[in-house]
Amino acid sequence: PRTPLIAGNWKMHLDHLQAIALVQKLAWSLKDARHDYRQTEVAVFPPFTDLRSVQTLLAADKLSLELGAQDVSPHESGAYTGDVSAAMLAKLEVTYTLVGHSERRQGHGESDDVVGRKALAAHRAGMVPMICVGETAEDLEEHGAAAIPLAQLGAAIAELPADADFVVAYEPVWAIGSGQAATPEQAEQVARALREQLRDLRDDARAAATRILYGGSVSSQNVAGFLRQPNVDGALVGGASLQADEFSRIVQFE
Ligand code: 13P
Repeated sequence: PRTPLIAGNWKMHLDHLQAIALVQKLAWSLKDARHDYRQTEVAVFPPFTDLRSVQTLLAADKLSLELGAQDVSPHESGAYTGDVSAAMLAKLEVTYTLVGHSERRQGHGESDDVVGRKALAAHRAGMVPMICVGETAEDLEEHGAAAIPLAQLGAAIAELPADADFVVAYEPVWAIGSGQAATPEQAEQVARALREQLRDLRDDARAAATRILYGGSVSSQNVAGFLRQPNVDGALVGGASLQADEFSRIVQFE
């Protein structure tokens, strides 16, 4: 019942001209796709400065790619120099926004509380927050794989109304950019625990409807293994989303 979602997080790569070139190449390789990837939803998460250009291109060419942002301000508007509001993003037809990516938690000191307020700001503006959770190598050793992701998810959705839609991205920090992906079984184990927690904190319907993605060194070589797991509904792809051919192969997993 859950539509698979393949999301490309470009991180701080590509200026707006390079962004247009990548989306054009991506559209081209997906047009030639051998099999029907349209059962799958595809989203790209460019830097803020690229969003307007990419949005214009998607609209002009009627491309079936969704747009995502990499972050959002927890504030509605006002004296918050450097912040970008959820309403500004929604106006650019941005569907999703990452909240709580480990690079924001670690590099910008974002707490669970801030992540929850960002998720709420996104929801209020009509976007779907993609809540990123994941354990570091030290967490894994100390607490096992699931404890930290479960705590992070619980804190983030505590702020959201019960009927709010969201996506969960499970990204073990040790797997990000390391070339060392989790095994499909490891990803499934945590995804299953996250879904069980959604059942407890929400209800069966919300738990069944919520997509849980795996992220961390996903490539065209390993994506199918993750997507075969019953509780893994897609992938959040970093490095491999910057190459049109590779990302297009990932989208056509199986
Ligand atoms: P990599 O795919 O480069 O490991 O990055 C994963 C990630 O952090 C996506 O948000």
